[in-house]
Amino acid sequence: MKDISMSKKLCPICKCEAQFLSEESFDGEKINCPKCGSFSISGSYLADIENHNPLQNEERNKLSSWISEQNIVFGVTRVSIKPLIKYINLCYNTT
Ligand SMILES: [Zn+2]
Repeated sequence: MKDISMSKKLCPICKCEAQFLSEESFDGEKINCPKCGSFSISGSYLADIENHNPLQNEERNKLSSWISEQNIVFGVTRVSIKPLIKYINLCYNTT
């Protein structure tokens, strides 16, 4: 219950305004995005896609729709982004 803070920032995936929940016990953010739904992302990975390896627009769209699909169809409320990016890269990067 303690050490939870809520703030509004842009979703790292689709750039909509989203609700961020930070917990001290979790290194990362839990994000409630109106477009993507609910998912969590690790702090280090968040820094990585924000500073070093920005997502391509195509990746953003695919990730966003995949996450929202999981939320709607399977009721998944926490999606780990990192393995997903690898999966998307495997599927869509032909080079
Ligand atoms: Zn989003």
